[in-house]
Amino acid sequence: MRITFLGTGDAFSSGGRLPTCILVETDGPRVLLDCGPAVLAALKARDLDPGGIDAILLTHLHGDHFGGVPFFLLDAILGSVRSRPLTIAGPPETEVRVRALGEMLFPGVWDREAGFPLTFVEMSPESAHDVLGLSVIPYPVDHSPAANPAALRIEHGGKVLAFTGDTSWTETLIPLARDADLLIAECYFFLPRGSGHLDYKTLSAKLPELAAKRVILTHMSPEMLAKTDEISLESAYDGKVVET
Ligand SMILES: [Zn+2]
Ligand SMILES: [Zn+2]
Repeated sequence: MRITFLGTGDAFSSGGRLPTCILVETDGPRVLLDCGPAVLAALKARDLDPGGIDAILLTHLHGDHFGGVPFFLLDAILGSVRSRPLTIAGPPETEVRVRALGEMLFPGVWDREAGFPLTFVEMSPESAHDVLGLSVIPYPVDHSPAANPAALRIEHGGKVLAFTGDTSWTETLIPLARDADLLIAECYFFLPRGSGHLDYKTLSAKLPELAAKRVILTHMSPEMLAKTDEISLESAYDGKVVET
């Protein structure tokens, strides 16, 4: 897998970082892992063609993680005019909320004929879902319940990518990350705050239990961004590319 961090910021774009969006390229599908509102700017600034994306995988239905979907669809219908099929896979209610958001942002957008097949997949927790040949297992996490939050474990070609989405520490992160080749962990806080996000101290203490081969931090607050030189774990930044 080749992973390009397109957006590594929080909902406030702290540090000038774009909201969450990660491109995962495999020898099968190319997918976006979350789709923050700056998705088109992030892709096009790097000469990456939105029309080459096969699927969008969503961890939860907060704006900084799925707010870019209507823009992506508008581009697909009116901009780059894609023909390639598109799958959007996310938690329960993904389709109704994406449709509602699209209608609010671009009234009438759903009345336009799309030149490509669009498929929604709503994934139930703790079972494996086949998304275009990727095995995707959502794990329930501790974040705003109304956003239907999950962490995602993605397996393909013998490689495992785990992504926490947004969450406080919860025991489901252990099976999520077990033996993963790469764990992308949100790390909003430096010290525990117990408010729906992970922190560096807790995450560091739990690393032996998580047993991931590599960990990269993302979705950091201004407090965490100010400490990236002091911490021992690898951090993401917009534009970072890794292979696993
Ligand atoms: Zn977030
Ligand atoms: Zn969130």
